[in-house]
Amino acid sequence: MSAPTGKTKTAKGGTGGRTKPVKSVGLISLGCSKNLADSEVMAGHLLKAGFTLAPSPDRADVILVNTCAFIEPARAEAAENILAACAHKRNGKCRLVVVSGCLPQRYREAAAEAFPDVDAFLGVDELDRLPDIIREAEARSDRAHPVPLGIAEGLPTRVFSKPIEALRLSGPVSAYVKIGEGCDHACAFCAIPKIRGRLRSRPSESILSEARELLRTGTREINLVAQDVTAYGRDLRGGNSLASLLRQLDALEGDFWIRFLYGFHNRVTDELLEVVANSRHILPYFDLPIQHSDPEVLRAMRRADTIQAIDTFPERLRAIPGATLRTTCMVGFPGETEEAFEGLLAYIERVRFDHLGAFIFSPEEGTAAAEMDGLPPPEVAQARHARLMETQKRIAREVNRARVGTVGRALVTDWYGEDGLTVRMAHQAPEVDGVTHILHAPEDIRPGDFVTVRVTGCRGYDLTAKLV
Ligand code: SF4
Repeated sequence: MSAPTGKTKTAKGGTGGRTKPVKSVGLISLGCSKNLADSEVMAGHLLKAGFTLAPSPDRADVILVNTCAFIEPARAEAAENILAACAHKRNGKCRLVVVSGCLPQRYREAAAEAFPDVDAFLGVDELDRLPDIIREAEARSDRAHPVPLGIAEGLPTRVFSKPIEALRLSGPVSAYVKIGEGCDHACAFCAIPKIRGRLRSRPSESILSEARELLRTGTREINLVAQDVTAYGRDLRGGNSLASLLRQLDALEGDFWIRFLYGFHNRVTDELLEVVANSRHILPYFDLPIQHSDPEVLRAMRRADTIQAIDTFPERLRAIPGATLRTTCMVGFPGETEEAFEGLLAYIERVRFDHLGAFIFSPEEGTAAAEMDGLPPPEVAQARHARLMETQKRIAREVNRARVGTVGRALVTDWYGEDGLTVRMAHQAPEVDGVTHILHAPEDIRPGDFVTVRVTGCRGYDLTAKLV
């Protein structure tokens, strides 16, 4: 994979005689929930420094594009947004364009060359420097030659807490809380450790104070995120672990839910299961991307430590009533034979995950897998992806049908239609899973309320329900 391309005509000149300092920033946050948490950190530092956040990037002095560069489609989306922001600037509709996140972190020099209209680039270790970087970019006289203003050399080493001023970009009811940054695994296909650096867990006190503040201001659902949440605390002293963190969060007062998203199934300890099973607030929702089930493929993926637990973990988790299992699989990895793929399909049929996402392997520059032989032809990889998703679609439909008639608690997240509501049940994580619709509801029920519902039907990945 190559660095981003997107050369445009360079806009020369500075602020065109305008003297008023730039004030409002329009934020475009791309990629995953972990990137959204970074956007919130930057938003907090902007507010702290006296900037305002524009309701839309179209109406801002500065457009900030917080990018993802995980795989090629993410880079293409980033390039498209950066170019649109630059066009906006050339048309005189904004004054500065700043690009942050994984793209400039990964392609430090190349990004500056590919996007000459960008005024500043910001690395993932400099989120708190954004206000200074904007001021520096604004003051520069030679705006025709951007430099990566805010990207330190080497791998990132910091982990950020959200300033109290941080907006909850994910909405008033639900929030993402990042509990760690970076990753100590060495999955052969993944460039993240080279972009984000090694694991750094946030001190539990900092996470607890963010959670307290969120709950105080109306959040009802906290989703803990990291590259691997089950690795939480391994780099800290004093016996910190995901289990101990969850125990502390569970002790907070209020009516709320906690989910933890993205972990390793072989790192789900008995202690963690015990905490989840006996908690008041922690949902038994397990998001554990297995990537594959075939031992040889897993070895080639450099995930050999996950092989032993692959057959046993679903049963351990399902011992908890109401446990929900989500996973992610990758097909078309170098060396994946037809037999290995059939084995994966049989495994999926056996385990019957509630939710499953699938990717086709893409060779990422600088990763071990990019150099590996035995890449299945693209049409074979496509066909495997389609078959896997078809299988899961049927399983998800059957799982959803089995939910009809069941009663459960749900969090109201939005209005729906004329007088209905959109709610989320315990098995539905934000953005990645379906939602539940209630067609008619009394007016006094609103987003942020918990309600009890009976599932009445299913439409694809979504459910319909009635209040009980
Ligand atoms: S766990 Fe593996 S796939 Fe996930 S970020 Fe770390 S190296 Fe990448």
